[in-house]
Amino acid sequence: MRKPLLAANWKMNPVTGATALELARAVSPAAAEHAGQVEVAVFPPFCFLESVAAALVDAPVGLGAQDCYWERSGAFTGEVSAAMLAGWCDWVIVGHSERRGYFGETDEQVARKAAAALEAGLSVIVAIGEREAELEAGETDLVCSRQLGAVLEVLTAADADRLVIAYEPVWAIGTGRNADPAHAGATMEVVRRRLDGAFGTEAAGRVRVLYGGSTNAANVVSYVELASCDGCLVGGASLKAEEFSSMIGAVASVEARQAIRPAPPDPPTGEGGRGIRPAPPDPPTGEGGK
Ligand code: PEP
Repeated sequence: MRKPLLAANWKMNPVTGATALELARAVSPAAAEHAGQVEVAVFPPFCFLESVAAALVDAPVGLGAQDCYWERSGAFTGEVSAAMLAGWCDWVIVGHSERRGYFGETDEQVARKAAAALEAGLSVIVAIGEREAELEAGETDLVCSRQLGAVLEVLTAADADRLVIAYEPVWAIGTGRNADPAHAGATMEVVRRRLDGAFGTEAAGRVRVLYGGSTNAANVVSYVELASCDGCLVGGASLKAEEFSSMIGAVASVEARQAIRPAPPDPPTGEGGRGIRPAPPDPPTGEGGK
């Protein structure tokens, strides 16, 4: 059973520490109200990690960084190591398309970061996704498999519990052009199959797969309803406390519905992530999640 995750990537926002604290405090009530159904984590800039951690000390909200370096320490001006972050937060994002695109990060570097983060005891969100030209060339699965493959090469099934893969088509990030859920679902199914192949079905079943790209309160349900989707990595909408709180509530309502819905008469069709998640076979455990 995988509990859905809503991860708030604040990117290089907000500019002041006071606003960061305000934002963190403003999303806490919704996270607390729906903690049984949805896991929430926020990813502020490095410089606000300490104060946001203090503000969230009693809130069921995870805290993460937006990047890390793979070396533990040394002459790497400007970098922050995974080992350093482990003292401040639980999570880190690696391989975001803005890091790959603007800062030239390669698949191999992303893989080293993921391995270092897990080694340091952090949970890690590995972001993958195709650019617009790759989408148009029909290369989505190829690109995602390549990016994911580099990471899976250096991880093992033992990492499954702390590994999250975020499928984020680059053309959908910050553009208002969220991916068609059918496209997202089919790609997340490809990710799931790669995970199965690398870790075996049991361990792979513990890895969460998220969608990211122009999600908001109006469209989040169309993703988390997919059998292959375990939540969303949210950028712009996560900076608006009211909108993000509505997203938390919307994901929780999907979980609640899934938990009470009777099992469908037919098994899943194997259509590749285009279907709605089937109800779980057991009665609700009170834990929410899948
Ligand atoms: C992101 O930056 O990971 C992201 C998904 O951004 P947005 O939701 O703004 O598209």
